[in-house]
Amino acid sequence: MQVTEQTIRDVVDQVLAQIAMPATPPVAASASSKDCKCPGKAAQDCSCDDKKTEGQYTGHYGLFTNVDEAVAAATHAFEQLSMHSIEDRKRIIGHIRRISIEQCEELGTMEMQETKIGRLQHKIEKLKTLGEQTPGVEFLSSQVFSGDHGLAVIEHAPFGVIGAITPVTHSLPTITGNAVSMIAGGNTLVVNPHPSGKKVAAEGVRRFNRAIYEDIGIDNLICVITEPTLESADAIFTHRGVKLICVTGGPAVAKAALNSGKRAIVAGPGNPPVVVDETADLPRAAIAMIAGASYDNNLLCIAEKEVFAVDAIFDLLLVEMEKAGAVRLTADEISQLTDRAIQTVGEGDQRHEVPAKELLGQDAAVLARAIGKHIPADTPLLFGEVDESNPFVSVEQMMPFLPFVRCRTAEEAIAKALQYEHGFRHTAIIHSNNVRNMTHMGRVMDTTLFVKNGPCMSALGLGGEGYLSFSIATPTGEGVTSPLTFTRERRCSLIDDLCILGK
Ligand code: NAD
Repeated sequence: MQVTEQTIRDVVDQVLAQIAMPATPPVAASASSKDCKCPGKAAQDCSCDDKKTEGQYTGHYGLFTNVDEAVAAATHAFEQLSMHSIEDRKRIIGHIRRISIEQCEELGTMEMQETKIGRLQHKIEKLKTLGEQTPGVEFLSSQVFSGDHGLAVIEHAPFGVIGAITPVTHSLPTITGNAVSMIAGGNTLVVNPHPSGKKVAAEGVRRFNRAIYEDIGIDNLICVITEPTLESADAIFTHRGVKLICVTGGPAVAKAALNSGKRAIVAGPGNPPVVVDETADLPRAAIAMIAGASYDNNLLCIAEKEVFAVDAIFDLLLVEMEKAGAVRLTADEISQLTDRAIQTVGEGDQRHEVPAKELLGQDAAVLARAIGKHIPADTPLLFGEVDESNPFVSVEQMMPFLPFVRCRTAEEAIAKALQYEHGFRHTAIIHSNNVRNMTHMGRVMDTTLFVKNGPCMSALGLGGEGYLSFSIATPTGEGVTSPLTFTRERRCSLIDDLCILGK
């Protein structure tokens, strides 16, 4: 049978109708926090056996409305996981991978229907790719120092319960990648998803936990707050049972995590600039920019957001963009689109421009229609020449319109790229065959990802070398997160023995 988009939608509608997510998740045993008898301890701060009644939270499959209960369940799951082998962690991750791959169409369609941003094909692809390629326990290699004074082994131990905040741009994909990496490192997690992606987050987590429980007997390795709010995020940030925070999102949540008083891994916002110099392979550059900037309608934090191209090739480059399938807007059309797509919010020195909600993550054809222009529905990207003062240059637009700014020299283009990346130190891209320009830009930008001659996602191992994660820690410096990011180093030293090389 050929699987069409309509077939998938029908299946998802049926499944959603059957699930009818209850406000309070079903539980096999009592969900209420059982009081412990330890003097002077609040129930949520104590991990004594009174509270850890075997199976107290079994049957939740990770769904919680209350942060204290979620952390208690994840703590119990962590203690159980600690008794299992690394091979079992691999088996647990195997279930997350299998579900992400086998059910990517159904879950990707749910994500699309709930969030209403991005492209269905890419929602599906993201889940499949994360299931296939997120690094697992193989990343946990130990280091050894051996010498005259014996042997020291450095191993990578878990933190415990990790609090994770995830974005609407990739709700279940971020949870999937975080869960694989964090569990590979021996941790469990409590997730506060974006409210606009909470249903698919809960459904994915329920499926993961259920499969893991049925195979290994541990429930609640991944817990999700089913009615997430800023208050529940704050409760996770400040909970004593949460040992580490990992947030993936924009400026507000990045700031909140950095001020939380806990160690935080922050995958923050970006505004990735592209420089194209006179030595670039223009057809290749155009194809790469369209692939990156149009992916999931420009929702990726690493996606090409503005282009600075040198005058000598500027017009030729725009012709190549059209040849490769992008649709060019006139100056007048760009001006109309800017009015519709970018809004000013805030007062006084808080006043700033943001993408308009109704066009964020929408198809190029929808943006075009907003200004009375009709183009084929499958058009990947709109583009056009702008002045650098156009807000599409400075704002992380997350929509498939790519602004091009004309520059006299590569030096000027790189200087403007630096200015409009805003010091996020996230991602920068160059198309060039001039090693000096590449080197200069790499040094100046100082970004976590620096891509040369490919689309943005090639930096995540998708068409380039390296490995994949959807949480790229920028201000806190961990880079593309992996299982090692979520571990503590522990050194085990044996003095004067077991080095078998000396006399
Ligand atoms: P967002 O910042 O609006 O929301 C992200 C998450 O943070 C959500 O769960 C939201 O509910 C929560 N949140 C927001 N403000 C908060 C606060 N003050 N306290 C606690 N929680 C808060 O972002 P979004 O629209 O969901 O996602 C897009 C943003 O995320 C973009 O800026 C993008 O660059 C960034 N992002 C970064 C990465 C990365 O790896 N660096 C990956 C994906 C997305």
